[in-house]
Amino acid sequence: MRTMEFNDVLIPLPWQGTGLTDTGLVRTSNQDAFTLENQIGLWVIADGMGGHAGGSIASQLATQSVVHHVRDSHGILSSGPDQAPSAIRLLRQAVASGDSAIRQRVSTNRDLTGMGTTLVIALLCPGPPTQIAIAHVGDSRAYLLRNHTIQPLTTDHSFVQRLLTEGQITPEEAMTHPQQNILLRALGAEDQATPDIALHTLEPQDIILLCTDGLTKTVSEEEVLSIVSENLALPDRACQQLIDLANAHGGKDNTTVVVISPYRQTT
Ligand code: CA
Repeated sequence: MRTMEFNDVLIPLPWQGTGLTDTGLVRTSNQDAFTLENQIGLWVIADGMGGHAGGSIASQLATQSVVHHVRDSHGILSSGPDQAPSAIRLLRQAVASGDSAIRQRVSTNRDLTGMGTTLVIALLCPGPPTQIAIAHVGDSRAYLLRNHTIQPLTTDHSFVQRLLTEGQITPEEAMTHPQQNILLRALGAEDQATPDIALHTLEPQDIILLCTDGLTKTVSEEEVLSIVSENLALPDRACQQLIDLANAHGGKDNTTVVVISPYRQTT
């Protein structure tokens, strides 16, 4: 366990996450999954897809596999200069373990053929310097909120993002593009589960937000920044307000948010 120990007293890691998921107003089931592992500084969101119960099985399998893999391997994340590179290796393996768990389940139950999931993972490396490793596959995102600004830390693996990068459509057109559900990478899909992984050095007041496309397709980055900034001491309330706004804007999809913010001692 990477919780810092001092005179046998467990001290919480300097960033803690809180999260919320919601089915929305249109869908009958929630195929998103998330997990908060505040003791080891690991936070994960997955957005499943596939008929029957496939989507929710895939997202649950992925998040559970990542957590098990990181927990089982926490020893290699000792402090020191090797911490960051080993975090990247660990996340790469964790994503692969999620991918193979999904494939294995499909191989034993053909009704689940075609199920898959996105994944976004944040893993805290206490350092020094304190860094956060972000891994993602698909269109679930991570954002950095710093000094009243919001900046994406991930680039969607989606058809629409490719059109955007190539300059073929504008950001406004991307928001309403009819093919915005086409993913170029996902766990469970053939040879498409390779994550992008990057390390970011954290400043003391930085906030990291993870979310599914239920949020990003309905709530603007400015709105996200404003809600989180207004609730710095109450990240639970920020999560609720973000979901409420996604639902106020139609709630067409499942929405999941995780807010990872500097630990505040409660008195
Ligand atoms: Ca979704």
